[in-house]
Amino acid sequence: MKLIHYRVEKGENYGVWVEDRVICLPRLAKSLNKKFPQRIEEFISGGEESVENAERLLKNAVDSEVKQASVLLQNVTLLAPVVFPPKIICLGLNYIDHIREQHAETPEEPIIFLKPHTTIIGPKESIVKPDFVKKLDYEAELAIIMGKKAKNVSVSEAKDYVFGYTILDDVSARDFQFKDKQWTRGKGFDTFAPTGPCITTANQLKDTSNLRIRTWINEELRQNSSTRNMIFSVYEIVHHLSRVMTLEPCDIIATGTPMGVGFALKPQPKFLEQGDLVKIEIEGIGVLENTVVEAHF
Ligand code: MG
Repeated sequence: MKLIHYRVEKGENYGVWVEDRVICLPRLAKSLNKKFPQRIEEFISGGEESVENAERLLKNAVDSEVKQASVLLQNVTLLAPVVFPPKIICLGLNYIDHIREQHAETPEEPIIFLKPHTTIIGPKESIVKPDFVKKLDYEAELAIIMGKKAKNVSVSEAKDYVFGYTILDDVSARDFQFKDKQWTRGKGFDTFAPTGPCITTANQLKDTSNLRIRTWINEELRQNSSTRNMIFSVYEIVHHLSRVMTLEPCDIIATGTPMGVGFALKPQPKFLEQGDLVKIEIEGIGVLENTVVEAHF
């Protein structure tokens, strides 16, 4: 299923995305007198059991109950699937085509860094470009949402810990990223992690080894690749990271970006400017759109 976190006048909620509407899971559960997690984070922390419960709920409800619990997508504001993740872990240099475009060396082990949770924004929210950032760039990435605590898990066990997948744009200020030689500042500005539009659960997206991943800037296609170009697979990444730090439910792991980022374009780089529309699509998940707004500080 595809899970959506959203806001309506009455507050925040979450549910299952079906065509042009979202079926609110807590509301449907209430109408059937079932106990159910009230918040999406709690639902995710229940792992695959939550997904099975939701599937059972949908199967047992009659059409009128489902309709009662539904709201049209056009009437909701989509939120980031997880607004306060315990951690946002990102991989650098994980696509062979992205390594080639910048003549870098293929890493032997995943190169990792963290983004603060204050980077998170949702679909259609603005990426804020401070006016002193001159080299703003996008990076389309498949992001893993963890569903269970994981420590020292093997590659073959890793799939039991993954809740689902979303899209994350690893927005980067190249001027600061390259000046600092480590990436905390360049990738850590507020709003530098647009995520969404939904979480596709792992039982629906079983094979992540060949998903099309594309980015358009104002309708110009810039990134056009596939997750088959990833060096470390989703399960290898979970394995490696879990040897370093305990992975927790709702952690987000961004798995790296393919070729076509702005700073590596030929004959010359192209950076994001005020008003640019960044549109990222990953097969099996959906489309994430955000506009760049320049702020004067
Ligand atoms: Mg990245």
